[in-house]
Amino acid sequence: MSMIKTVDVCKTFHGKQGRGPLEVLKNISLTVEQKEVVCIVGPSGAGKSTYLRSLNRLEKIDSGKIYIEDKLLFDCKDGVNTLKLSREEINGSLVEVGMVFQSFNLFPHKTVLENLMLAPVHVKKTRTEEAREKARQLLERVGLSDKIDAYPSQLSGGQQQRVAIARALAMEPRIMLFDEPTSALDPELVGEVLNVMKSLARAGMTMLVVTHEMGFAREVADKVVFMFEGAILEAGPPAEMFTNPKNDRTRQFLQSVL
Ligand code: ADP
Ligand code: MG
Repeated sequence: MSMIKTVDVCKTFHGKQGRGPLEVLKNISLTVEQKEVVCIVGPSGAGKSTYLRSLNRLEKIDSGKIYIEDKLLFDCKDGVNTLKLSREEINGSLVEVGMVFQSFNLFPHKTVLENLMLAPVHVKKTRTEEAREKARQLLERVGLSDKIDAYPSQLSGGQQQRVAIARALAMEPRIMLFDEPTSALDPELVGEVLNVMKSLARAGMTMLVVTHEMGFAREVADKVVFMFEGAILEAGPPAEMFTNPKNDRTRQFLQSVL
């Protein structure tokens, strides 16, 4: 079963203030199989975030197909989903997709425990006790059991991002999307977040990760995808991409970051 599959996803932003339209996604076709870790790399402005966000309906696509766990959820033409699916049906599939952002996006006035319990209790209708127990387990998993009653502002960036990962996991997703999860962190805090992600990958989580951490991609990814100006220019196993990129643009990009 493929966990994520997109076929010819296209998206154009129509510029404000006289700026012309900007084609941000040009026929993006990508498949992420079960338990695969796929890393998307590419320069700023390539459309990486827009692509990730479109998988979660945070961004509407103009055309193309999006499958989650082999179920066709979006078949869009001219910005309209031609499928007649109910909101519940779409939400039911999208709840399988967790997302972690560059900015940690924790609720600042809620404790770590409350951050972890909110969605399970209110969206999934999990019983409070069960949600609390699950939150405890997840905090142990990301090494933050001692921070259960802390507020986000009392945590380092790395700790906040680990909480954000635990919070996404609290919904028991089967797919995790990461959008540059370590880009906002001080260098010395990057490792602790990558370690949590590595352990998730080892545990068999399906992951789609936008990152500039080439070491992580090389070590963990099954497949690396190079995006440039809204298109996938090259994709392949990291050993191949990093040592023998076929595309000149890929080579230039890798030279600039490695
Ligand atoms: P990346 O994550 O690869 O840096 P993004 O997906 O964030 O790229 O952005 C791709 C392009 O789309 C950029 O040129 C960006 O300025 C533009 N863009 C992103 N969001 C919007 C928006 N809401 N409205 C208009 N343009 C946008
Ligand atoms: Mg981005």
